[in-house]
Amino acid sequence: MNKKMYIQAEKTPLNISIKTSTRYGGYSKEPYNSLNMGYFTGDDVTTVIKNYRLYEKEINTYNIITLNQVHGNDVLEVNHENSSDILFSKADGLFTTEKNIPLGVITADCLPVMLAGQRCIASLHCGWRSLNSGIIDNAFKLFNIHNDIVEYAYIGAGICEKCYEVQDDLVMQLVEKYNPQKALQKKDSKHYLLDMKKLATNALIYNCLPIDNIEITKYSSCCFEEFYSYRLENGKTGRMVTTIVRNG
Ligand SMILES: [Zn+2]
Repeated sequence: MNKKMYIQAEKTPLNISIKTSTRYGGYSKEPYNSLNMGYFTGDDVTTVIKNYRLYEKEINTYNIITLNQVHGNDVLEVNHENSSDILFSKADGLFTTEKNIPLGVITADCLPVMLAGQRCIASLHCGWRSLNSGIIDNAFKLFNIHNDIVEYAYIGAGICEKCYEVQDDLVMQLVEKYNPQKALQKKDSKHYLLDMKKLATNALIYNCLPIDNIEITKYSSCCFEEFYSYRLENGKTGRMVTTIVRNG
């Protein structure tokens, strides 16, 4: 079996690198075994720090910026001056116009959505709440403010359309503009299956990104054993980190 420490996006523009860590090759013990990249999980924090140092060396990308994610829609602008202040802020998106700042999203079923333009990049933590409250729209606005447009989006490994069962009260809250009906399959009178990758794709298309410019990973957190799944492991598990960085 392939026990690689990461997978990577394949259609990224020049000088852009996007990688998602797997659960292999780190120091964490069960149930976080072993490459847990989530600080706020109950795992020993010094072990998580050791995992970061090891992983950063493996992917040759240092000082990954991550957030204290809260399922909101705030996207913070980060640069070389403010990066240490931004680290662990309460927000769900990061944006930068600068090179060599790796932006990270922590997940274990939510979707990492990464965006790239000519100069700007963004990383977004997309659970249904963040998606529904417009985190993707907010990121596109930041590109616009900086006179750039999103030319490429990557939808990474999250829960798949077969495993994400939701109740009708959640479905009622989904906003119309992202075409939720196209991402939903009725299971019984009270339950639906929600396709998060499709919902994110619809939100990207709503912001005028052509479908051909969207790369969707074949992986999912739930149906591939190399990843952590919050749902399948009843909340007691580790996290992956997905990073985007513009090099050179
Ligand atoms: Zn699945």
